[in-house]
Amino acid sequence: MTSTLVTGISTLVTNDPALGEGPLGLVRDAAVVLDGEHVAWAGPASAAPAADRRHDAQGRAALPGFVDSHSHLLFGGDRTEEFNARMSGRPYSAGGIRTTVAATREASDEELAENLARYLAEARRQGTTTMETKSGYGLTPEQESRALRVAARQTDEVTYLGAHIVAPEYADDPAAYVDLVTGPMLDACAPYARWVDVFCEKGAFDGDQARAILTAGQAKGLTPRVHANQLSYGPGVQLAVELGAASADHCTHLSDADVDALGQSAGTVATLLPGCEFSTRAEYPDARRLLDAGVTVALSTDCNPGSSFTSSMPFCVAVAVREMGMTPDEAVWAATEGGARALRRTDVGRVAPGARADLVLLDAPSHVHLAYRPGVPLVSRVWHRGALLDA
Ligand SMILES: [Zn+2]
Repeated sequence: MTSTLVTGISTLVTNDPALGEGPLGLVRDAAVVLDGEHVAWAGPASAAPAADRRHDAQGRAALPGFVDSHSHLLFGGDRTEEFNARMSGRPYSAGGIRTTVAATREASDEELAENLARYLAEARRQGTTTMETKSGYGLTPEQESRALRVAARQTDEVTYLGAHIVAPEYADDPAAYVDLVTGPMLDACAPYARWVDVFCEKGAFDGDQARAILTAGQAKGLTPRVHANQLSYGPGVQLAVELGAASADHCTHLSDADVDALGQSAGTVATLLPGCEFSTRAEYPDARRLLDAGVTVALSTDCNPGSSFTSSMPFCVAVAVREMGMTPDEAVWAATEGGARALRRTDVGRVAPGARADLVLLDAPSHVHLAYRPGVPLVSRVWHRGALLDA
């Protein structure tokens, strides 16, 4: 194994308060030693140990690779016309998830795999080194399981979302679709997934249906995460906390009881997805209210062809700061360590000895520039599992 000393770092975000100042564990004039696939050392450059190779960051800021804990990248087609109509104030009746379901069912395994690889690479160029992704556009046992099989070859965070919407074939009998999702479809999908998810929302799955779907997944060894309280108030957040879900995602419409439940939960992260509100001209979730209540907050892209077609974590950081009451420090933490907590990972989202060697350099002297310079491609270098990308 070859070790690399990355030195000349103006400001290093470690997310380890034992290594530096504040919750971000900030170290000025810093260095990091990567050894194989892991971080061997992080701290002040003046105290750095020797290594086989040396990379001079020339005053750039460094931070852990982003952890994007919520995306939907197993799909065919796109929804350009739907987005264009929405942003142009024109009605567009043929859109929605069903459009993507039809296109995904027609796509070959190879097309799905190439599509996923393209978006994972696109995200990595923007600093994302861990990415969760979900099924949910196949909605049959065969289609959902082949999507998850494709996903499991490319990412280790795979989520079964057979309960995205009721499949068109079951529009008149949603109870029978829940039986399918909790029965044969789950059996076909569980071997490829770590997580089970449900879209708990009016028009999708109600609280009782969501509970049945999540507990069936738990019985097969999957851990719940929930699309909760996105479009309206509802039972999703409380259900997520009650079942010990890793994450309640969206959290746009929350009662005080929902916020309290998240604040007192043992490990349910509130994952906020600002790309979605941005791309649908909707009201943003109130991150400030959650943070002030002691809730652990993650930021994620929700990258999908309908409601949030961005793979950019820097974009989400900038919007969260501008629109959701987060400080730049809080947003950067939420996009790295917050995402790791939402995926119950301790090996990513931080730059500390033993962590995976996922490191990002910015063409900027500070991580604050991610919000200060929105839309600017600041990501300069990305190490993923110790390998320097495009080097
Ligand atoms: Zn989603």
